[in-house]
Amino acid sequence: MNQRVTYTATIETIVEHSEDTRSLFLQLSAETRFSFTPGQFISIAIPLPNETRVRPYTLASSPEDGGPLEIVFNLVAGGAASEYLFRRRVGDRLSFTGPFGLFTLDRTPEIETIFAAEGTAIAPIRPMLRRALANAGSTPMRLFHAARTRRELLYAAEFEAAASRCPNFSFEPILAQPPAGWTGRSGDLREHIESIFVNGDDNRGRAFYLCGVGQGVIDLRDLLRKAGYPRRAVQYERW
Ligand SMILES: Cc1cc2nc3c(=O)[nH]c(=O)nc-3n(C[C@H](O)[C@H](O)[C@H](O)COP(=O)(O)OP(=O)(O)OC[C@H]3O[C@@H](n4cnc5c(N)ncnc54)[C@H](O)[C@@H]3O)c2cc1C
Repeated sequence: MNQRVTYTATIETIVEHSEDTRSLFLQLSAETRFSFTPGQFISIAIPLPNETRVRPYTLASSPEDGGPLEIVFNLVAGGAASEYLFRRRVGDRLSFTGPFGLFTLDRTPEIETIFAAEGTAIAPIRPMLRRALANAGSTPMRLFHAARTRRELLYAAEFEAAASRCPNFSFEPILAQPPAGWTGRSGDLREHIESIFVNGDDNRGRAFYLCGVGQGVIDLRDLLRKAGYPRRAVQYERW
């Protein structure tokens, strides 16, 4: 893959997950070859009136899908790139380079693996999990996805289906604003990770894939490493 190539894709479909979160499905021309590893991102050119900005967006689809590339994003107040992407319509074109990134997983892990993400930062985890579960074996895998509301639990039906298919995989959503009758986890992602994997036992033979916005993901990484998990066992990506 020549990463210096600039690709141009047409927006084939737009899916609105909630009022401020959507997916764009980017179709490359039939003759364009593009391959990536689960977890990688593309750098999209955002043409603004006085400059072109470049922003990374993770591929939420899987390489094995073979169809359009999916990006999923939320509107950031005052954010030029997310606002620009929100204004795009079906048929518009986007230019990007890539794929880039080392926050990847391309096979079933050999040790118990914990995936933890907040909101749209589920994007890299989704194709990683699909790859990891393709040859599920018996390695335990747990997904903690934190969101404000049930509607913001992106791809929840897909993860629930995977959990009922694979006995070694559990999907454990965490809602900040749980509706009445919610029997799942609620509150803060960090508290759950800390109580289960730091204070819950002495086993430090696990791997983690963490993704989120801002300092929270760094704090979570540090919490796990200080608790005795090996450095390389705690992979993370900060947006
Ligand atoms: C490797 C990588 C992959 C990324 N993949 C995605 C993706 O798949 N989907 C996606 O929505 N964003 C993704 N981002 C973030 C994205 O690149 C932009 O930073 C984001 O869309 C905000 O850009 P902006 O120009 O609208 O706002 P800016 O003015 O550039 O950002 C303002 C602030 O928003 C924060 N921010 C970044 N992302 C978010 C977010 N999602 N929600 C709330 N605040 C945010 C930034 O930390 C910054 O402090 C990724 C970032 C990185 C580093």
